[in-house]
Amino acid sequence: MCGRSDGPPELFTELIESAMSETLSYPQVCRMLQAAVEQIRANHEMLSRLDAAIGDGDHGSTILRSMEAVAKAIADASGSDLKPLLAKIGWDVMDSDGGSTGPLLGSWFMGMSDALGDEADLDCAALVAMFAGGIHKLAKQSRAVVGDKTMMDAFLPALDALQSAAPTGNIRRALEQAAAAAAAGAAATTQFRAKFGRARNLGERVIGHADPGAVSVSLIFKGFSEAL
Ligand SMILES: [Mg+2]
Repeated sequence: MCGRSDGPPELFTELIESAMSETLSYPQVCRMLQAAVEQIRANHEMLSRLDAAIGDGDHGSTILRSMEAVAKAIADASGSDLKPLLAKIGWDVMDSDGGSTGPLLGSWFMGMSDALGDEADLDCAALVAMFAGGIHKLAKQSRAVVGDKTMMDAFLPALDALQSAAPTGNIRRALEQAAAAAAAGAAATTQFRAKFGRARNLGERVIGHADPGAVSVSLIFKGFSEAL
């Protein structure tokens, strides 16, 4: 008798959740991107402090410029097609004076645009294909792998998590798992020496400090997952 009040509402919640998670519309993807911008706005000072420990201390301000370019491109967009929006964001981010990360983030957005077809709404498979296209394009520029103490330490585990979750069709769960994997990947960078950039010259001294680029990417995925 008591079971009746417990069971159905839970099932109902799950049904609603899965129905809501089936596809993403253009405004929902814009909300995801805007939530990522908000994460960087809220944390750019912390990101610069991380960079000051192992680099030149500018990461927070450079990634903020890149993400403000994302916000502006969304605000200026007149249509409701994701493919041209992401291409515009890619070009604007590359032009945003985003230090060493600007061109990398720009190629990520360009690669996401390239991977999209002309579908109006994205199902989970299309969303994962979009992320995969972006991260593969980025990986051609970066050539860093997991363990090199770069943004790839967050991007590559996030992609693995998205691809594992893709068969479930549940977008919300896929993004939650991607955000968790990116956060774990960023946290793991504290253990690594750097293979690229200024931090490479510091040898053992960077151990104990997280890579600011990886932390930024984890915040971007946190924004994506919390937006839904
Ligand atoms: Mg820097």
